[in-house]
Amino acid sequence: MKICFATNNQHKIEEVRSALGPDFSLLSLIEIGCTEELPETGTTLEANALQKAKYVFDHYQIPCFADDTGLEVPALNNEPGVYSARYAGLQRSSEDNISLLLKNLENKNNRQARFKTVMAWVEPNLQHTFEGIVEGEIIKERKGKGGFGYDPVFLPKGHNKTFAEMEMHEKNSISHRAKALEKLLAFLKSR
Ligand code: IMP
Repeated sequence: MKICFATNNQHKIEEVRSALGPDFSLLSLIEIGCTEELPETGTTLEANALQKAKYVFDHYQIPCFADDTGLEVPALNNEPGVYSARYAGLQRSSEDNISLLLKNLENKNNRQARFKTVMAWVEPNLQHTFEGIVEGEIIKERKGKGGFGYDPVFLPKGHNKTFAEMEMHEKNSISHRAKALEKLLAFLKSR
């Protein structure tokens, strides 16, 4: 079955492709010919995920899912949340985002954090959202070279390696995106 994952983030495509297995042919935005920037104007992860998936389905007529992810830090009123990508500015730099996060947490004792992914599925006459959460904490210095985004400073609960120190398959077995994807797959396979 051909489906589109509404992203061009190669890290995400690879993560999801390896989790999906051979029953699905997963196409990125570029691969379906979509080169325009997708609208993402919601104020919640759910609204953004649905907005992106609907846009692709409406314009390219292919069953599609889109994700939106946020890092929630309770000591910072759950920021950066839906604004995680542009926390330190519109340049969307992971380096700058991490630096700002570490600075804002400098005087906080509570370094608890969670990644939350909402995945939205859109096909003819149907739409559905699925949520995946992984709890953890923000460590004081970057560790590891793998992954992307905030991975070097995110230590998942019950583990002694950051997401950036894990092999892709290790991160894939516990990540927020994997949990949301697992729910989406169960839903697709149940029909
Ligand atoms: P997006 O909305 O899923 O593209 O992600 C929003 C922000 O969260 C971006 O800055 C990403 O770098 C970050 N992010 C998303 N997923 C992950 C992840 O698995 N690890 C680390 N950061 C992530």
